[in-house]
Amino acid sequence: MQWDDLKVTGLQVQYLKVCERKLWLHAHQIGFEDEYDKVQQGKVLHETSYQRKKSKEVLIDNLIQIDLMDGDYVGEVKSSSKMKEADQAQLLYYLFILDQMGIQRKGKIHYPKEKRVDELELTEQDKQEIPKWLAQIQKIILLEKPPIKKKLKYCTKCAYYSFCWVGEEG
Ligand code: SF4
Repeated sequence: MQWDDLKVTGLQVQYLKVCERKLWLHAHQIGFEDEYDKVQQGKVLHETSYQRKKSKEVLIDNLIQIDLMDGDYVGEVKSSSKMKEADQAQLLYYLFILDQMGIQRKGKIHYPKEKRVDELELTEQDKQEIPKWLAQIQKIILLEKPPIKKKLKYCTKCAYYSFCWVGEEG
């Protein structure tokens, strides 16, 4: 199977790195009110931090939504660097898709609240690895039941916290 047959979104790549259970729950459209809050927070962040910057969102093939394109770089805007590994994976996936389209770019992840910008480049090793992530995502989504829950530092900030853990604190 070709990587682009899998139709994986950038968000799914991020969830793969955060929590496989979250990836499954999101893919099966099990949604909660507080997910809405986090989406709204993200929108406010974009509007306040980048309203004066020359920026545009670019949607490619309904798979990836790039926050910023600026010369040799594509950029993502994030509220904090706490999940930087997942942020990096998402942006590397974007760079990978562009590379497959013959467009070579570098990446920048903007953390405006921390006044921090991380740069990254797609390596040959990434190009070998990323198709494996996509196959893994497909495999997880096709599971009949969600992967078992694991207590992660991230859980308390996750939209599925109530679903996974309420009634089990103590
Ligand atoms: S609450 Fe924790 S275990 Fe449950 S989906 Fe979120 S990150 Fe995963």
